[in-house]
Amino acid sequence: MDKSKEINGAADRGQELLAIHVKNAHTRLSDFLDQYGTGLDVLGKAMGAFTKAVYDLPESAACASGCAWCCHLRVETSIPELLVIYRELLTGSTPEGIASLKKWTREAASLGDLRDEDLWYQHKLPCPFLDNNKVCLIYPVRPFACRAHHSMDAALCQKGYEEGRRLMIPSLPLYRASTDIYSTIFIKVMAVRGFASFPVGFIKGLAMLLEEPTLTEAWLNGKDVFSPARIIKGDSRE
Ligand code: SF4
Repeated sequence: MDKSKEINGAADRGQELLAIHVKNAHTRLSDFLDQYGTGLDVLGKAMGAFTKAVYDLPESAACASGCAWCCHLRVETSIPELLVIYRELLTGSTPEGIASLKKWTREAASLGDLRDEDLWYQHKLPCPFLDNNKVCLIYPVRPFACRAHHSMDAALCQKGYEEGRRLMIPSLPLYRASTDIYSTIFIKVMAVRGFASFPVGFIKGLAMLLEEPTLTEAWLNGKDVFSPARIIKGDSRE
């Protein structure tokens, strides 16, 4: 068979499989929320189930523990993920830990809009959850965007970090799409239910919650409180 036809056929099949995967995940979440409601516990369980369904990163990827160039990029997330992660933080952190995170977000916010990906590039801002050994402190509950983001060329990631600009990082598109899609599904399913549901800057949303913890309840009660964290355009960890 002609090589290009073979490649196109494989790409089409990949797209078909992705469409089935998305439809199944969408239906599973909708049915689950129909049955149990849209409380934070239920959203946490749904996020846990989706997390278990994420495929392992293929061995051909260049990513390894301690390589964290991409943990200096702005992260985009759905609001349910944000709220579930924030709740995990509150239950798993000391008051000093929360105070230190709040101090970090205030200082970072004084540099500019935390939703702006250029701010992260220009200031080489590390994610506040990256520890001194370049290990993610919230690894088990990190956003889907963090799980989806990977690279086939770590040197290019380093170059983008050092030059403070977005580069085209080679990756496995199907892996990325099939992982990041869980965030999109959360956004769509909650929007259908009437929630003010859209992508938000992870750290911007977190900074808002740290300043005003009642936002969780307000959002779950249908109020549009996260508009200041809304991301309009896609970005490097979308
Ligand atoms: S949450 Fe974890 S994986 Fe995601 S950017 Fe922060 S340190 Fe990196």
